[in-house]
Amino acid sequence: MFTEIQPLIETCKQTAFDLHFRHAKKWKAEEEGRILVGYMPIYFPREVVHAARGLAAGILGGGDRKQIIKGDAYYQSYICHIPRGIIEMALDDNLNDFDGFIFPSICDVIRNLSGMFRMLGKGKFVKYLDFPQNFLPAVGGAFYKKELLHVQDELFKINGYRPGVEALNRSIALYNENRALTEDIYDIRQQFPWRLSYEDLYCILRAGLAMPVEEHNEILSEVLDYVRQDIGEPMDKIKVVVSGAFCEQPPLGLIKSIEIAGCYVVDDDLLLGSRWIQGDIDARTDDPIGAIVDAYLTQSAFSSTVYDAGNPKEARLIDLAHRRQADGILFAAPSFCDPALLDRPQLQKACDDAGVRYISFQYSENTGQFKVIKEQVGAFSDSIKLWEEAV
Ligand code: SF4
Repeated sequence: MFTEIQPLIETCKQTAFDLHFRHAKKWKAEEEGRILVGYMPIYFPREVVHAARGLAAGILGGGDRKQIIKGDAYYQSYICHIPRGIIEMALDDNLNDFDGFIFPSICDVIRNLSGMFRMLGKGKFVKYLDFPQNFLPAVGGAFYKKELLHVQDELFKINGYRPGVEALNRSIALYNENRALTEDIYDIRQQFPWRLSYEDLYCILRAGLAMPVEEHNEILSEVLDYVRQDIGEPMDKIKVVVSGAFCEQPPLGLIKSIEIAGCYVVDDDLLLGSRWIQGDIDARTDDPIGAIVDAYLTQSAFSSTVYDAGNPKEARLIDLAHRRQADGILFAAPSFCDPALLDRPQLQKACDDAGVRYISFQYSENTGQFKVIKEQVGAFSDSIKLWEEAV
């Protein structure tokens, strides 16, 4: 008897794409002193907000579900789409009830967006969170710790609660569990990708950005039990890694098109923030903020937004493709995304050198036509299948 999971996926889908964050707002309203903080891509250590009786919700833009009218007046045409959607949401009051907003440093667009939120007087605080690009504990580590202590101060101003060591360790443990469950699902999908579609996986993970981690851990446990079952039949598809979509997200229709075109996505960087820290953060420490800092310095995922001279991203991407036994890489980046597109030639060269096949395309969060990309991906998949058969 197989577990039925479709209703759970539908619920996740609703929560994941609710641009009003009703689920998170309801959670906040249920108890006095709770805090709701919005953070932009890519990564923010949600443990810090959780320990302060808060929920850090990921804001990923309006996607193809919001008409942009005012947002276009704030931005020039030659930058990516995500800031327009987020400004539109802020101006349309989608983000009312949020106590504060965190803008992790990724690029100038996100930096400028934080300034606009400040000018518009959104939330009780707006924090541009500058991540260190120096990975020495005494330099970048000390700087990052100060940044996180500043976030804690802002949270304290809202509800007057300062979490102790025990509360922080508990939050760290919960997010450790969240990451471990997610990785277990990815590991099983690598072998048996037909058991859970990539579209469904994406909705399940994205829902985790808008609900308490305790609730999301229960969902992930259920999904893990589901994918452990011997279900479904393999189809004649290639396995791919998707790279470059770490900030502005492709529309769900595009994600679906990749699968329909003949690809099983076995790894990706779409919701990279949820998987940023590789492995566990120490949850039995006297210095939990220090542990979060250490994890950032030594266990961060690779990304175009991180200075990585000592551990180059191109080598890590090739290693990921090999570990996942992928047949190729799809470079999918938002139009005008500087970090992703500037790195692309370097990453493609690494693929050429390593004999890893790839294709590249661009999208925007409100792309409505997937036909061209579907044809491109379909041709890529066919060429690999035919080539494999020919040798
Ligand atoms: S999509 Fe790229 S350019 Fe746009 S805000 Fe995100 S990282 Fe910056």
